[in-house]
Amino acid sequence: MRFVDLHEDLAFSSQNFDLVQGEGQCSIKMLQQLGDPLVFAVIFPHINTWDERGEVLSAAYGHPTQSSAPLLQVLWEQFKLYLYLERRGLVSIVRKASDLEKPGVKLLLALEGADVLTDPYDLHLLYEMGLRCVGLTWNYDNKFASSCMSKKDYGLTGYGEELVKLANKLGVLVDVAHAGKATVLDVTSLSKAPVIASHANVKKIRNHVRNLDDEELETIAKTDGVVGVTAITSALSENPSINDLVTHASYIEQKFGLRHVAIGTDFLGVQSTPQGFENVLKVQELAKLLGEKADKILWENAVRVLKSVLKV
Ligand SMILES: [Zn+2]
Repeated sequence: MRFVDLHEDLAFSSQNFDLVQGEGQCSIKMLQQLGDPLVFAVIFPHINTWDERGEVLSAAYGHPTQSSAPLLQVLWEQFKLYLYLERRGLVSIVRKASDLEKPGVKLLLALEGADVLTDPYDLHLLYEMGLRCVGLTWNYDNKFASSCMSKKDYGLTGYGEELVKLANKLGVLVDVAHAGKATVLDVTSLSKAPVIASHANVKKIRNHVRNLDDEELETIAKTDGVVGVTAITSALSENPSINDLVTHASYIEQKFGLRHVAIGTDFLGVQSTPQGFENVLKVQELAKLLGEKADKILWENAVRVLKSVLKV
């Protein structure tokens, strides 16, 4: 089946998981079973950080080798993994719009948190390496933008504005998942291209720090972007199940339009999964629940955005 997943932590998981043959939330083998999926393959250069009370802000993760590695080294290793998968002929990497037509498993390389960039112009370098989507923040603030966990939601900095403009110019998607509200509003008013929130749900349904309120959803829709409804259990409901994904998707559809709904599972980045949506193969069940809207939500909407952003 055709399926775009706007967010999977493939490389991040690979330290203690067989990414090619594994049987977890997702693997290359499972993606091959789906047929022609396109997965945003996340590069997550990440080190632990602590707040004033000494709490690890990144406690949900904490792979020991990663937590101590300098960001650049992590970035490098995760890029290498994806390029290796391509060399083995297991995936093809989407670098231009025409690559979307290729059969089989496709990956689009996506950075989660721009902290690793020394300045906005490093994006040129990552573009040459194949990067086509840049998420401005993870759960803490950086020199480009404020995060959804920010204690002072300052939006885009001057550097952040430069980064968004450069992404527009190069043909790189800008992702506001994990961003603070001021950042979402700044990015959507500045960007000349559709903006995505790769993995986030509806705040009106579930009041969670990672979810988007109606004003944020509306501004993303106004850029003609998409929101990837996500399987992060805490962002879904009290008793998360596959039906909650449909509920969040329906809200966005009814309030802002079907063309703005997509899926961003966060598989391999989450420790628990909704009932009935335990792995990527369950997207076939989701398609049944979505009925006639399935192809738009699972493929067309995201591909429309990609075609308008990527160079030909
Ligand atoms: Zn994330």
